[in-house]
Amino acid sequence: MTAASEVKPRRAVLEMPEYHPPLAGRELLRLDFNENTFAPSPKVIERLHQVTAEELTKYPERESVEAIAAAHFGLRADQMVLTNGVDEAIHLMCCAFLEEGDEAIICTPTFFMYDVSVRMMTRGLVKVQADETLEFPFERFKAAITERTKLMFIASPNNPTGAVVSREHLLALAEAAPQAALMVDEAYSHFDGESVIGDLDAVPNLVIARTFSKAYGMASLRIGMLAGNAGLLKYVRKVSSPYNINGAALDCLPVALADKDYLAWYVEQVRVGRDRMMAGLRELGVPYFPSHANFVLMKIGPKHKELVAAMRAHGVLLRDRSADPGCNGFVRITIGIEEHVRMGLAALRSSLEEIGWDRRETGEPAGPQPGEDEREFE
Ligand code: PMP
Repeated sequence: MTAASEVKPRRAVLEMPEYHPPLAGRELLRLDFNENTFAPSPKVIERLHQVTAEELTKYPERESVEAIAAAHFGLRADQMVLTNGVDEAIHLMCCAFLEEGDEAIICTPTFFMYDVSVRMMTRGLVKVQADETLEFPFERFKAAITERTKLMFIASPNNPTGAVVSREHLLALAEAAPQAALMVDEAYSHFDGESVIGDLDAVPNLVIARTFSKAYGMASLRIGMLAGNAGLLKYVRKVSSPYNINGAALDCLPVALADKDYLAWYVEQVRVGRDRMMAGLRELGVPYFPSHANFVLMKIGPKHKELVAAMRAHGVLLRDRSADPGCNGFVRITIGIEEHVRMGLAALRSSLEEIGWDRRETGEPAGPQPGEDEREFE
């Protein structure tokens, strides 16, 4: 038996929430985690095969790859920090800018890691809940800013809603809280949405996070980035390990960035697949939130768990988002390559029938979906 330890963690660690995504048993069609469902660029795979023994024995060197990534985005090297995914970027932002008593603002529902990382540092997490449209609650978010606000996290497009926040609104929030860093999480920006990366020079408290886990298909390599004001990023660098990104990921990033054709191909697959999915949902009478990302959030109602189980039996994984605030009965489906979208839709059609789903269970009126006329089925 292990002896009981008297060592106690920090109070914040006792109180912070835990994030345990359901990662086991995923050898099926993965439409649950918003990953690329296919592959990274073939050039990335080629580069991985060239990794040498010597490279593996060396500590990874981040700086030269940071310069390449910065140039790719039209930035200077000191405006770029590479991170171990956006997860680490969020954590480093909290380590650098939050202390107990400070406030950080997020809107909910959103990506859960903001909650985890903020609460590691302070009790001052302020959550602004979206209304039933799940659009970004700009006015209420702005009204939540106080002199204690030190960080604001906004995902655009947002997860799990797929909603975007306009550039105008983002810049207005940065201006309204000059004492706070605004981290705009552009993890899904390839799929739609206006980037604010062109505003970095003009807005000193703006920081942008990007990931190579989604459109680039490298989730397992764990690499993301923070771009922003050099004066802010120097503190992020200070709290980061110099070896936070493994050498294989650093080797692959320049290759992935250079293969623009592959990225364009994958993004187009998702755009076409997303239209197909939304048209399919309309046809099935499933209410959904028009999405700008590589997933669609739909409203199932009380049978949400049954649907996820039925889809699993058909070999397709979905993500139940019912525990998210304002999302009871909601389920999210990832959009991947066209073939996977087709398989997902076919499984959805069968599963809804098997569980005896009826649109009336969602509390939505029968009839057409909002935005029905705006989207063309291809
Ligand atoms: N931001 C958002 C909005 C996300 O949805 C996710 C992934 N689920 C991440 C960041 C994490 O990205 P990464 O793999 O780069 O850590």
